[in-house]
Amino acid sequence: MKKILKLLIPIIVIYLIGLLALNSHSIQDRILDIGLKNILSNAKPFLDKEDTLKVIVCGSRSPLPSPGRAEACILVEAGDDIYIFDMGNGSVNNLTQYQLPWPNVQAVLITHMHSDHMADLPDAHLQSWIQGRTEPLKVYGPEGINLVTKGFELAYSADYQYRSNHHGQEMLPMSIAGFNEITITNNELIPNETPGLEILPFVVDHYPVNSAYGFKITYKGRTLVISGDTINDGSVQKYSKDADLLIHSAISIDIVERMRRVAPIPQMDKILFDIQDYHTTIKEAGEIARDANVKHLLIYHSIPTPRNKIMEDVFFRPLDGVFTEYTLSDDGTRVIMPVGTDEIIIDQID
Ligand SMILES: [Zn+2]
Ligand SMILES: [Zn+2]
Repeated sequence: MKKILKLLIPIIVIYLIGLLALNSHSIQDRILDIGLKNILSNAKPFLDKEDTLKVIVCGSRSPLPSPGRAEACILVEAGDDIYIFDMGNGSVNNLTQYQLPWPNVQAVLITHMHSDHMADLPDAHLQSWIQGRTEPLKVYGPEGINLVTKGFELAYSADYQYRSNHHGQEMLPMSIAGFNEITITNNELIPNETPGLEILPFVVDHYPVNSAYGFKITYKGRTLVISGDTINDGSVQKYSKDADLLIHSAISIDIVERMRRVAPIPQMDKILFDIQDYHTTIKEAGEIARDANVKHLLIYHSIPTPRNKIMEDVFFRPLDGVFTEYTLSDDGTRVIMPVGTDEIIIDQID
């Protein structure tokens, strides 16, 4: 008994001293300062010394809710330049956490005008403005993108003025408030000044969406394709031939049908039925990757996004015997493809 007490008393004393210390304002202040310094000085996942074609998934989910994930957003870094494909809800929060250097962002490209692909454009406008953007934010998009950007400009006109007045013209000049929108033309390269980079938009079928694009991106011999939202109409397979990486959206009909059986309201049942006719199934995504001889398939905009291992296993069951080189992306999934190699390195940055 005495032995146990001998052991316990110092532990209790240390615990009580620790408890008192944690309640001391000066110690709380020290711990907070160290924590904040760590958060803000974390190694940034951008602009390595090595010349690479790199992807960071800044939003991995579809409109079906999934806790902690943002809607569609794919960041592509080629050398020192960054291009962002889609900006769904929550994606700018992710990019801010990753400490995105906005001055390196050359343009935002919108695959199609569903809200889950462009809801965060106003936040992208604000963050890039704060970080010293020198011109209106460049946004490429399908026909009608001007209605989106002009609409946002109108809705946020008071916000622009308030912020510019508060922080000053020097930091937030009104002359560069707003967007510079450019309509994409099918099969016409997106103009850019990044040496060795080609961004080719191609039409995909996301009917009844009027105009929807996928993108083929080539940088010094490395290639990736972003599907956007589409049915399997042959386009993605055509443009993905021998690509290093295919980033494809996909739906699990099996899980969506199971969701329909337990849908609490008829509207949800109807939506879950309707969405099945304008997305590529997970099996088709695997077949596209296999038939196009793609090296790696990265699934994003998963419908629904698997929330646990069992759901993930069921989601990917249709790929058994079809294609094995795949990864389900999460927010923060990074793919690094060094130039001059055939390496594909996949990790998680958060
Ligand atoms: Zn979508
Ligand atoms: Zn869509």
